[in-house]
Amino acid sequence: MRGLLPITRRRLLGSMSALAGTAVLSKAHGVHAAKGPASSPSRVAGRWCIRNATLLTMDPAHGTLREADILVDSGEIKAVGHQLEAGDAEIIDGRHQIVMPGLVDTHNHMWQTQMRGMFGQTEQTLFFPVTQRLSDHFRPEDIWVGEYLAAMENVRAGVTTSNDFFDCNRSPNHAAAALEALAHSPLRARLLYGAQSKTTEKMTDIEHLAELHDDWQNHGAGGRLSLGLAWRLPPDLENREAMALKRREYETAREMELPISVHVSGDGHHEMFQKLIDEGFLYPGLQVVHATDARDEHMQALNDAGASLSLTPVTEHRVSYGLTRLSHFAPVRRQGLGIDGNALAGRGDMFGVMRTAALTELGASGDQTSVDCMHLLSLATSAAAESIGMGDIIGSLTPGKRADVIMIDTRQLDLGMVPQEPAAMLIFAASAASVSLVAVDGRITKRDGQMLDLDDTLYERTRSSIDYLNRFLD
Ligand SMILES: [Zn+2]
Repeated sequence: MRGLLPITRRRLLGSMSALAGTAVLSKAHGVHAAKGPASSPSRVAGRWCIRNATLLTMDPAHGTLREADILVDSGEIKAVGHQLEAGDAEIIDGRHQIVMPGLVDTHNHMWQTQMRGMFGQTEQTLFFPVTQRLSDHFRPEDIWVGEYLAAMENVRAGVTTSNDFFDCNRSPNHAAAALEALAHSPLRARLLYGAQSKTTEKMTDIEHLAELHDDWQNHGAGGRLSLGLAWRLPPDLENREAMALKRREYETAREMELPISVHVSGDGHHEMFQKLIDEGFLYPGLQVVHATDARDEHMQALNDAGASLSLTPVTEHRVSYGLTRLSHFAPVRRQGLGIDGNALAGRGDMFGVMRTAALTELGASGDQTSVDCMHLLSLATSAAAESIGMGDIIGSLTPGKRADVIMIDTRQLDLGMVPQEPAAMLIFAASAASVSLVAVDGRITKRDGQMLDLDDTLYERTRSSIDYLNRFLD
């Protein structure tokens, strides 16, 4: 099927490597340059054991374990507990470290990342006008840069899974570039296949989506990548013709048993939510994003249908949707937090997302006990994974799950050793720099605070993409 595409993946990659330079990101930026493609993802995950760490398992059956071990083999968590028999496993010293499941980002737009420095605070330079102007000029190589930048930034910050709403899907080559970037990174991701442009009413190329789905064994990076639909309601909710076309996209995804994500935000968001209910679109595979100020009856309908919610407090605040109050959304049974675009959020940092959620609730409630930090941590780990349908494979340090594991070094200057309240400390103090080790699918990709798999062509490709995009800013 792939051969039907106008440009094959091989040719696309060939044109990208022509952009490749020799620049490296320096250690001063907290990253360590690797040898590029030769060192990338297919490295076999080995057998390793972290000993004597504080384990936040995020699994009620195991809870928080002190001076405990976790054993990983062939990409799977084999055991958690004390003084595990590890055989010939590589031993990693976990003293002074917090070990927890990798953070799960339930909503992102990774393709936009290199636009981070282009947004200001005037009417012309705000996020929406800038992205609307530039997205129509994105080439496949720009998509690659945005996706790969976000993937590596996220991994560096302990995010091991992103649910990627890909809404700059201008051609099959753009989708191929996004998939190539994700496969080249170590991140676990779901590419939510979206429409050709966010600025027009163009449709999603559902024929190409079906081709990708049929040929997924050649795109899924051994199960690390998955597919879904990035879906939108028509701008005019009363236009029956437009709604029928959108319904066709929705039903195509349902037939393929792909998860679907939809925004409910901006002007008319209450009407959008009501439309999802009235048209019968809510079901367990549907994720509603933002749902600002959702009404009680809307949250009840979401629960009744088993659908889920993604909240992205940092970006919701930045675009002035309102204050995202955890207490307001407490009735929603299936929910998780997300970054919603590293560029708009400012950084790919789920600790910052949790911190924003906590501080917003604390400040607005007038009650210093109103935030349960373990619950908040679950919204970025176990509950987040469950909300995007991945709870069986990731989200907690549970034997049998895939080994998406991170380690936070508490000896750093800004963390200060031996936390009695590790969840609260992580939420209020941790950052990307705190993360000493990251493993995805058992493969260690950050170690001793250093990135092991960063493509050394990234700097040059990013600069080239930004130079190109800057031409359309004026
Ligand atoms: Zn979004």
